[in-house]
Amino acid sequence: MPERLIVIGGDAAGMSAASQAKRLRGDELMVIGFERGEHSSYSACGIPYWIAGDVQNEELLVVRSPEEHRRNGIDVRMLTEVEQIDLDAGRIAVRELTGGRSYTEGFDDLVIATGAVPIRPALPGVDGMGIFGVQTLDDGAAVLSELDKREPKHAVVVGGGYIGVEMAEALARHGLDVTVIDREDQPMTTLDPDMGELVHRAMEDDLGIDVHTNTAVTGFETDRDGRVRAVVTAAGSVPADIVVLGIGVRPNTAIAGAAGVPLGDHGGIRTDAQMRVLGRDHIWAGGDCVEVLHLVSGQYQHVPLATHANKHGRVIGHNIGGSYATFPGVVGTAVSKVCDLEIARTGLRESDAHRAGFGYITVTIQSGTKAYYFPDTKRMTVKMTAERHTGRLLGTQIVGSGGSAKRIDTAATALWNRMTVEELTALDLAYAPPFSPVWDPILLAARQAAAAVQDAH
Ligand SMILES: Cc1cc2nc3c(=O)[nH]c(=O)nc-3n(C[C@H](O)[C@H](O)[C@H](O)COP(=O)(O)OP(=O)(O)OC[C@H]3O[C@@H](n4cnc5c(N)ncnc54)[C@H](O)[C@@H]3O)c2cc1C
Repeated sequence: MPERLIVIGGDAAGMSAASQAKRLRGDELMVIGFERGEHSSYSACGIPYWIAGDVQNEELLVVRSPEEHRRNGIDVRMLTEVEQIDLDAGRIAVRELTGGRSYTEGFDDLVIATGAVPIRPALPGVDGMGIFGVQTLDDGAAVLSELDKREPKHAVVVGGGYIGVEMAEALARHGLDVTVIDREDQPMTTLDPDMGELVHRAMEDDLGIDVHTNTAVTGFETDRDGRVRAVVTAAGSVPADIVVLGIGVRPNTAIAGAAGVPLGDHGGIRTDAQMRVLGRDHIWAGGDCVEVLHLVSGQYQHVPLATHANKHGRVIGHNIGGSYATFPGVVGTAVSKVCDLEIARTGLRESDAHRAGFGYITVTIQSGTKAYYFPDTKRMTVKMTAERHTGRLLGTQIVGSGGSAKRIDTAATALWNRMTVEELTALDLAYAPPFSPVWDPILLAARQAAAAVQDAH
């Protein structure tokens, strides 16, 4: 009899785990995946770009359809929700969402890859027509249909995180007047406020997006038909024919928690380095439903990103498949953009460094993306944080025009290897005028950070 692997969740983490395990074990392993939605292995990351018009259709965002998974020997059951897990009996209870049939399935190994759920505040009017989240392809299709059929003029995006700013751009590119409302001091709170202010200014001055900060949304005004017409805040109402909510997600761990799977402070599942649920030999978890170790702060965090979900899936698949792999943790690298402005970060913000107990220095430099005399050179700002006493790099943030953001990967690699800013200054990075100034902006920031560390002694 082949062993039975059951996977809950048919997207990045779940299907990567299923595919990798099946590749390694072939007919020895029966793999059954359960997905309550209509799509498997799709790129939610592409939704803002699909809405903006950069991606022509929804099919392009589906990396592997259920039929393709089935051809690879994985029994993917769509529109089927797992309602309960019995860890000791090795059994799950499921319900088909069309037809309503319920049944149970036994497992030898179980992968929990249930992702995250968007936060939807319990505010008056939040269920009004014209108010959208953007978590699934169906959400993306609903926004596009609204833009097409109702031709809204005024959009409000609630939340200035990366999904909020990407959606602000998408709506602006449809010709709408866009307002972003955030309760924090600056948009993009994954950056320090001084770097967030650069994003704020560029969104308003260069892109014509209105940004209201320090503003909490208290409700939504709807008309007699229940359709949104304004977003209500303590500072007054902002007219809106369409609203997009981008206020974050939390780990989707209700069924795992109810089954006794250990959860951390952020509500995510806690695993060991092989992504095995703590204390359970044959139960695995990965993706947006888990907490991960931040290698710089040494603390567990919820970091819901596709880059991690895919790696978790691969690691789980290798371990179930009889090989060996680990996920050591993250350094907090992320990148996004709003129109031509690129935004990137890795490591700790000042507030994180403070909370983790580091004494630190910071420097901020301005540079060009190419040699200063080269056509099309764009401006970029780099902020670097280092430990005061040792010079160890703690974090880097970048805000700038085209060609800025992916430079963060150099800093992420340095962080991963616990390099000091002095060591960073010596890195052999590529230079030619069309690509970089002779001192790459990361090296320039490292030089100044190294000097600040010296001065601090
Ligand atoms: C608009 C948007 C833009 C993004 N952009 C980026 C980006 O640029 N870069 C980046 O790294 N990340 C980005 N992300 C995040 C990325 O999409 C997620 O981190 C990634 O999809 C997580 O994969 P996952 O498999 O853990 O979870 P999910 O993709 O959420 O998949 C979990 C699946 O489990 C299913 N499920 C849940 N519970 C059950 C159940 N009980 N029974 C059956 N099925 C169930 C769900 O229907 C879902 O399909 C973005 C996300 C969004 C929404």
